[in-house]
Amino acid sequence: MDRREMIKKAGAAFMGASVMGIPAFGQDNANNVSTNGKKKKLVVVGAHPDDPESCCGGTMLAFRNAGCEVVSIYMTKGEAGIKGKTHDESAAIRVKEATNACKVLDVKPVFLTQIDGSCEITKERYTEMKEAIAAEKPDIVITHWPIDSHPDHRVCSSLVYDAWRRLGYTFELYYMEAMTGLQSQSFFPTDYVNISDFADKKREALFCHTSQDPADWVDDWHGGMEKFRGREIACKNAEAFVHLKRVKSDLL
Ligand SMILES: [Zn+2]
Repeated sequence: MDRREMIKKAGAAFMGASVMGIPAFGQDNANNVSTNGKKKKLVVVGAHPDDPESCCGGTMLAFRNAGCEVVSIYMTKGEAGIKGKTHDESAAIRVKEATNACKVLDVKPVFLTQIDGSCEITKERYTEMKEAIAAEKPDIVITHWPIDSHPDHRVCSSLVYDAWRRLGYTFELYYMEAMTGLQSQSFFPTDYVNISDFADKKREALFCHTSQDPADWVDDWHGGMEKFRGREIACKNAEAFVHLKRVKSDLL
């Protein structure tokens, strides 16, 4: 076996063992059927407009391509995200940008009521997140990795984890990485999604966030991460996740 064949074979073996119940995106739709006979539904919960699509826009496209429903939940409307604008002005601009990005990805946007930069964990916020997720009846939820430099990302992660428990572990829970090295820390993936066929479309969605100067970070940060994760599984572009398996215990 020459080197090229060996790399190809190693990559195929690795991908065969993945990912989120979809071993071959768009080719093996039987694997995308939930236990209730419907297509699997993916819900991604991010703290700010641009988080779901930048952390896992390729995966969202892959699920859509496989015929699954996909929902993008934004915990805030990006109120603090544009210098020189009021919260209301900024929120209006960023909701429009996120809605446009969701159109490119062909997914449904949902906006919750926390405030960018001031996200909080309270009894009421636990309930808000639980109800927002329950309303979608997801098979899979992806959210922020809990060890992250951005406080809003940590809040989001904590609220989603609590919803997973309080909803009786009725969906699979995965964590996504955000600018690993700068934001996410100590992130060691358990699952990968090959997004090589979707990287261009994901990039188009990220460039909908014009108020965030996408030219400054899309290719450098997310392009770099996709290529790095792609190398780990011998494909061009990949997104990586940590799958949190439920630990069954009599104490829980
Ligand atoms: Zn964010």
